[in-house]
Amino acid sequence: MKKAIYLAILCITLTLVSFDYYPGNEHYKNFKVAVYARAYEVRQMKDLKWLKTVWDQISGQVDVDKIYLETHRDLILVSDSTIEAAKQFFKNRGVRTAGGITLTVNEMNRFETFCYSNPEHRKKIREIVEFTARHFDEIILDDFFFTDCKCPLCIKAKGNQTWTQFRLDQMTKAARELIIDPAKKVNPKVKIVIKYPNWYEHFQALGFNLEKEPAMFDGIYTGTETRDPDAPGQHLQQYESYLVFRYFENLKPGGNGGGWVDTGGMTYIDRYAEQLWLTLFAKAPEITLFDFRQLQRPVSYMDRSAWQDMKPSFNFDEMMKPVRKEDGRVVRATTIARAAGYTFETVDRFMGKLGNPVGILSYKPFQSYGEDFLQDYMGMIGVPMNIVPYFPDSTKMIFLTETAKFDPDIVKKIENRLMNGKDVTITSGLLKALQGKGIEDIVELQTSDRKALVKDFSTGWRGFYQSEKSILIPQIQYFTNDSWEDITSLDGAAGWPILLQARYANASFFVLTIPDNPADLYRLPQGILNRIRDVLSGEDLKFRIEAPSKVSLFVYDNDSFIVESFLPEETIVRVVAGPGVTSITDLQTQEVINSNDRAASRIWGRKVEEKSGFNVIVRPHSYRVFQAD
Ligand SMILES: [Zn+2]
Repeated sequence: MKKAIYLAILCITLTLVSFDYYPGNEHYKNFKVAVYARAYEVRQMKDLKWLKTVWDQISGQVDVDKIYLETHRDLILVSDSTIEAAKQFFKNRGVRTAGGITLTVNEMNRFETFCYSNPEHRKKIREIVEFTARHFDEIILDDFFFTDCKCPLCIKAKGNQTWTQFRLDQMTKAARELIIDPAKKVNPKVKIVIKYPNWYEHFQALGFNLEKEPAMFDGIYTGTETRDPDAPGQHLQQYESYLVFRYFENLKPGGNGGGWVDTGGMTYIDRYAEQLWLTLFAKAPEITLFDFRQLQRPVSYMDRSAWQDMKPSFNFDEMMKPVRKEDGRVVRATTIARAAGYTFETVDRFMGKLGNPVGILSYKPFQSYGEDFLQDYMGMIGVPMNIVPYFPDSTKMIFLTETAKFDPDIVKKIENRLMNGKDVTITSGLLKALQGKGIEDIVELQTSDRKALVKDFSTGWRGFYQSEKSILIPQIQYFTNDSWEDITSLDGAAGWPILLQARYANASFFVLTIPDNPADLYRLPQGILNRIRDVLSGEDLKFRIEAPSKVSLFVYDNDSFIVESFLPEETIVRVVAGPGVTSITDLQTQEVINSNDRAASRIWGRKVEEKSGFNVIVRPHSYRVFQAD
């Protein structure tokens, strides 16, 4: 008996020792939450009274497992004593600490970075890294380990190379010489993580090397903030908050530590919550809230969006309700930290039931660009996407955008796939880039600079559709009876393909026409979008949707899926499921929905397959989570 008690006590003790968190804290089961504090605020933490007030406010509203304490930004280096005092403060509260470094000279001056050609700057960077490695066993580099310097020294060092070649080489070497080696010399235990921002399509031009760096660093991390695509700025599509995490995970499988969201640029508060849950839908193991200062932004009923009476997924009224903590404290929603806390509590209830995310594979060679961020637009029209840095052989369909032209062997790889009976869809942008480079051996098509302004569309005998506004598209010419229009557009007595199909060996080669403005994909009529989804995802994914644009589908490998609407109104979505699925269960409400009709996909060259349809209603800016039975 005594022995049993002793063992029990030993076990409890061991649990406490190996688990860094307070046993009483109610944290999330499926992910960790971190807060990032900039050097400006870490510097202020020497005032422990101030720190306690702010920390109590944040941590009362959202459970936090870890805090990144930044040592440097904008030439501000926090003192040793302040860092140690802050570390102790968080240790006392069971919160893990890690270091952060932002390598900016002046962030406010259009992100002025250090000059990696300047010996004084290089010395300074090494000192910052060594200083940080003395204080922490884990260091994350915030977004800015790139260079935008074009000083005379850099111009001279560049010589005849392109800026891209010069910066890739310079920054890859700097990663080793100024970051990794100096840090490990000071602290052999230190784990160094590079956090990449959200503008992945343009990295190479500023020196981020996705081919080499992920292997050099101990871990990578993902900026998943997308803000508002319709506002001035980056115009990142909401779907990127999910897809960019998946893409980076494919760069270093198992080594992508988490996603990172700030409060900037959100024009309504639901947008903030959306970015957080999209990051988690991508199965990020940790989510970092940027930052300590932004989390103090007050929330009030002024933040209640117009669609809140429809009780969307981010339910503002529920979020604002006081919460009773385990220790008896009652916490009120005073700042945006509560929006994060409420979102995490909601998502944590079902995240564990989802398998691994899957999507149509889209190959993006290293250091490539072209039709920038197009996969994110595809996700927004309901085609589940998964970007990979290698050419995929496994799936029945792949989707290639202009960015694939950076692989010199791309035509040969496409042909091999088709020979092996596997389909390929390319965009009009890639077709144009491959003209005269061998693509003619697969199908003879002509592109030119001619455009068409279209608003009428047809899927042949299946139906005619009209968009609300005309769309400008490139004209693709093909030889009658050599390849076929699966979807056509019309203007008067002329017409041009939107989706063109050519047979080659035992497979199909499709060309999808991308409007000159990729956001015009959202203007395509629902019937046209449904057909695109069917052709692209039909053979690889068990589920697809029939819905307007701005409704996304997230599919997992255990027959679970999420339908999310970014529309401001209630939307009816028809889910089409593969053979054998007769009902689906809503994992949040336990409602069981039975199939209300049958459908069959008819695509030339493919077997006709019986499918079942399910009508589901999705609230504005909301998601629904399902498990197929
Ligand atoms: Zn320079």
